Amino acid sequence: MDLRNYVRDIPDYPKPGILFRDITPLLADSKAFAASIEAMAEPFLNSGVDVIASAEARGFIFAGPLAVRLGAGFVPIRKPGKLPFDLHSFAYELEYGSDELQIHVDGIKPGQRVLLVDDLLATGGTMEACCRLLEQCDAAIVGCSFLIHLAPLGGEPRLNPYKVHSVLRYD
Ligand code: IMP
Repeated sequence: MDLRNYVRDIPDYPKPGILFRDITPLLADSKAFAASIEAMAEPFLNSGVDVIASAEARGFIFAGPLAVRLGAGFVPIRKPGKLPFDLHSFAYELEYGSDELQIHVDGIKPGQRVLLVDDLLATGGTMEACCRLLEQCDAAIVGCSFLIHLAPLGGEPRLNPYKVHSVLRYD
């Protein structure tokens, strides 16, 4: 099954010059969605992952099934104003502006093995912010797993030294 066939290209969205990779056709297909979860999990099946951490909103779609597949828990990373308890925060630049992400201070216990998950790696700003948050938690970051990697946008080096896995790479 070629999962690329389920990713729809939308030119000039959300602004002129951007080619948006729309994953909603993939999510809507039971076999393509299941194959995506399996492929995102595969390198980490024997990595002793304790927790999946992921940033809202699209990352959550993959994080839940991956947590179940890997026998791990799930800890949300959210935009400001959404989490009720004490927080770690990190502000960052992203492809279409700037933002801030937060995690509960007790979401991850020191030393827990954490796999970070998102739908897509573009500039890497979102995932780099997630890594900084997990470092504040003293997590052991096992790696970062994506469905899609837009390689020309240069996100991967920003995640150094962590292992980066993607299912579909666009060059
Ligand atoms: P980055 O922070 O620049 O790496 O952007 C990654 C984030 O932006 C991910 O959470 C994606 O959901 C979102 N994103 C950026 N470009 C696209 C795209 O072409 N399709 C879908 N989501 C995108």
